[in-house]
Amino acid sequence: MSSFKRSGNPSYYEPSEAMEEVRGFIEKWQNILGLSEWEISAEIVHSSKIHGGMGHSSWNTMSEKAIIEISFDCVDEHHGCELEETVVHELLHVFFNRSYDLLVSRILAKNPEESIFEDLCAQFVEKAYENDIERLAKTFVTLQRVIELMAERSV
Ligand SMILES: [Zn+2]
Repeated sequence: MSSFKRSGNPSYYEPSEAMEEVRGFIEKWQNILGLSEWEISAEIVHSSKIHGGMGHSSWNTMSEKAIIEISFDCVDEHHGCELEETVVHELLHVFFNRSYDLLVSRILAKNPEESIFEDLCAQFVEKAYENDIERLAKTFVTLQRVIELMAERSV
């Protein structure tokens, strides 16, 4: 079990311990998702740096390197952000990069001749992709917690 302190709010982390927590979640989920060969670094940043989101990821498929940025807001007690789910969400972007990355970037590539329909289609695909990632992240974290609970009980 981890040693960080938590207040009554389960999403609150002491700032100095947040980074350690993020690293722990990355390591745990890299193994679960079969991404252990990847070199994944993490940063905690102001949300303005990641367009107001809770997390952001960038990666290089060839070198198998990724950077995951987590917003300060996500480790702040006043935000309802689930830190582990946010880390899993960003790792799923890395996980899916081989299949979706090219497709989404092609569709999203701006082109002056692009019709309104294509623009709407691109927005739809991007939203559906984000929703799928979010659902998977929640599902995985829930399942993993059930497994951990069962393991604790059987000891
Ligand atoms: Zn996302």
